[in-house]
This record gives sequence, structure tokens and C-alpha cells, in this order.
Amino acid sequence: MDILKSKENTLFKKIGMLSIEINCPVYIVGGWVRDQLLNRTSKDIDFLVLGDGLKFAEELGKKLGGAKVSLFKTFGTANIKYKGYELEFVGARKESYTESSRNPTVQSGSFEDDLHRRDFTINALTISLNQNDYGQLIDLFNGLEDLSKGIIKTPLDPDITYSDDPLRMMRAIRFATQLNFKIDKHSFEAIKKNSARINIISKERIADELNKIILSKIPSIGFKLLDESGLLSIIFPEFTNLKGVEEKNGLRHKDNFYHTLQVLDNLAQNSDDLWLRWSAILHDIAKPATKRFDNKVGWTFHGHEDKGAKMVPQIFKKLKLPLDHKMKFVQKMVFLHLRPIALTKEEASDSALRRLLFETGEDIDELMLLCKADITSKNEVKVKKYLKNYERVRERLIEVEAKDHLRNWQPPISGEEIMRTFQISPSKEVGIIKNAIKDAILDGEIENKHDEAFRIMLNKGKELGLIVPK
Ligand code: ATP
Ligand code: MG
Repeated sequence: MDILKSKENTLFKKIGMLSIEINCPVYIVGGWVRDQLLNRTSKDIDFLVLGDGLKFAEELGKKLGGAKVSLFKTFGTANIKYKGYELEFVGARKESYTESSRNPTVQSGSFEDDLHRRDFTINALTISLNQNDYGQLIDLFNGLEDLSKGIIKTPLDPDITYSDDPLRMMRAIRFATQLNFKIDKHSFEAIKKNSARINIISKERIADELNKIILSKIPSIGFKLLDESGLLSIIFPEFTNLKGVEEKNGLRHKDNFYHTLQVLDNLAQNSDDLWLRWSAILHDIAKPATKRFDNKVGWTFHGHEDKGAKMVPQIFKKLKLPLDHKMKFVQKMVFLHLRPIALTKEEASDSALRRLLFETGEDIDELMLLCKADITSKNEVKVKKYLKNYERVRERLIEVEAKDHLRNWQPPISGEEIMRTFQISPSKEVGIIKNAIKDAILDGEIENKHDEAFRIMLNKGKELGLIVPK
């Protein structure tokens, strides 16, 4: 690799100049070097400074014309935001760990010390920005070879590396998923052995790594590794509970764990939305809790969409995922995930389509993507048939939406207008009239228009004994 040809070379030259001026050697290290060699672009660049990293960053900030420098004194690191890049500076260090914490005691160290504390050989590659060997790649642990073979391996004894900082187990699996690499056999054995140590890691950190796995091109790679290593049943047991197939009277149900992973991979081909991907992960989460065997129809999971939606908040809370509108969105997707399929079963009424549009609101396209991903039959004829039915429902949804505009439905008559017309104050009756108007529109009795809704309001008001004052 030739950094002289990289887009960032002007910036690197400036950093190299500063290192001469203040007599402080500096190297590019970690993710950027790795990604550059893999032809992946990266906007985060880590620098290793043989000296005071904070001071180096401050000086560089001045040189770059007042770029924003943040100093994290407790961690001995500094960050500069510059032209869309995140530049991270750290002074070379040596770390020692205790049993109970992933946060090491840190003392300053040599270039070699610093590379020995790095998690993987492919993350310990550096490029010198110093005068005598500017642009030279330094590879202490055969990282280049592992990069070309696609292997994740620790520079030191994996057992100690993972035990010291168990977050590295999640990182190993995350990189294996993002890069489609294999984890070295000894490394994976060490992860299995140390899996229970994940409990000393904060839930937020675990969630960060999990989300990166979920956002990868083929997320199932990561989940299978998490499962095999024993980590998944510790951090997310609700998910491993989906595993297994039961048989009764010769009838088997599908393995919902592998089905869910297939749905997630299918969806990942059509959507980058993290929360829609979470909806795929959770869409069948209540199947174990709702599983029954019925002598007439075999295995059933009645109500798993409803129960699943109810499980979403507790799962989000436990995993420290956001409890805001993103969670609400996932809940809604889980709750509604069977509805479009139900509509394909027979020629659905316009009214059923309108109700679905009304309930999904803005999110109908996402729901349809999830449902499409949910088709995982191995029978190609069946898959073709399902997809065709699904397309038909989509077309009809578009027609109904064009006519009735239910996606962002605003009632054509407001509560205000109802109160004004009948000269009443806020009361139960206002709600009843609003609902009657909504139902009339969804059932196709009237169009989504003010004058027709006004008529329904008068009729309903009369039924309720309200009068319109002269
Ligand atoms: P990405 O930015 O895609 O997450 P990265 O490799 O740049 O990948 P960062 O978290 O930005 O990862 O860390 C930068 C570098 O710091 C890594 O390449 C690695 O050398 C080192 N590093 C980060 N976290 C750890 C850790 N937990 N243990 C050891 N070294 C680590
Ligand atoms: Mg990085």
C-alpha cells in the first residue's frame, strides 16, 4: 500500500511535519490501515504517538487552523474532528489488567508495548509518518498474512487477551461478520472458555457491538458465532430460546432460531435500517411462549405477534437499547408482521387494506419489506406463489392509499369542530363521534372527505341525543 497516493496524504504530511517539529514520532495504527489494505473506506483514523498524545493533538489542532480538539485526560486520548474525519491520538502505553475489570492500569510504554496491547493482528498494523521511513508499513505480528487469509487472531495468548478484556470476544465476532473472516481455532476455543466473563462488560458496549453485527451484510454469520461460542445465551437468552424442533404425531415445526436468521439475512439485502433489522430478529420472539400442539391442526403459535410486541420493551430495556420511538417502531412491526400475509390468503376486502394502512401509518413500506423477508420456504414453487400474492397486496395497498390517503391519516373533522357544532365540552361523546367517522372511512362507507364526514357526525350526534343549536 502506498499512502502517498491516499486521499489523506496531505493531512498525513502535516502530521509528519509536526512530529519533526516537536520531536515526537507518530504512526497511523489500527482500523484505518486494515481497511485501506482491504479497499474499504474509513473516516476514523487512529494515531499512535511516542510521547504525549494529548499535547500532540493540541499542537495539531492549531496547525489545522483551529479544528475541534477534545481531550480525554482520564483515558489519555484526544480526538480531532477535521473535514469529516475523526482523528484519534493516544500516547504509546502498556496495560495491566485485574480480574474484575476490563479497564486496565495504564502506564506509558514503548512502540512495541503499545502494539502488544492491541486486540488482533490485523488491528496492530502501523504505518510510520516519520521522516526517515515515511509511509513504511510495520507488521510485528504477521497481520498482513492474516489479512490476506481472512483470519482473526490475537497477537498474544488468546486466553489472556480475552480474559483481560472480554469485550474483545464481541469484537472478534463483529470483525468476523463485517469482514467475512474466520476466527482462528485457538482464539475461538479461548472465547468459548472465557464466554462467562462477558458479564463484566457494560450492556451498552455489548449493544454497540451487537448492532454492528446486525448492520453487517450477512448478520447471521455473527449470530451463529455468538451462539456457538456460548455468548448469545448469556447476553440474549430470549433469542437462543427459539432454537430447536419438536415432533409430535409425526408433525414437526420449523427451527425458529435459524428461520429468524434467514429472515434477518433476507431483510439485510433490502434494508439498512437497524430498527427494521431488530424487528426481524424479534418478529417470532414469542413463539416458544405461545407454542401449543393441537390434535387437529398440529403446532400453533397463536398470538405470538401480540405477546412478542409486549416482550419488546423488556428486551430493549435489558439490552440497553433506546426506549423511545425506535422501540415503538419495532413493537409495531412485530405486532403487525402477520397482517400482510393474512391479506394474501384470500382476496382481501378494501376495508381490510385500509385498516392495515391506518394502523401502520408511515411505516407500511418497512412492514412489507419485513413480510417479504419472512418468506423462507425451501419450496421454490411456494416461494414464487407467496411473492406473487405479496406483490398483488402491495399493488392494492398503493391503489387504496392513492384514493384514501390513510398513511398519515388526519381526521377530516377535528374534535374542536365536533365540540363547536354541538356546543359541548370535551367528553366521551367527542371520542365516540370521532371513532364513528374513522370506522365509516375505513369500512368504505364514505370517502376520506370533510363533507361526508360531517354527515356522519350529525347522524351519530343525533343518535347520542346531541342537538345542533340554531
Ligand atoms: P472500527 O472503527 O471499524 O470499529 P477499529 O479497528 O478502528 O474498527 P476502534 O474501536 O476504532 O476499532 O479501535 C482502534 C484500534 O484500537 C483497533 O484497531 C485496535 O488496534 C485497538 N483497540 C480497540 N479496542 C480494543 C480493545 N478492546 N482491546 C485491544 N485493542 C483495541
Ligand atoms: Mg476506528
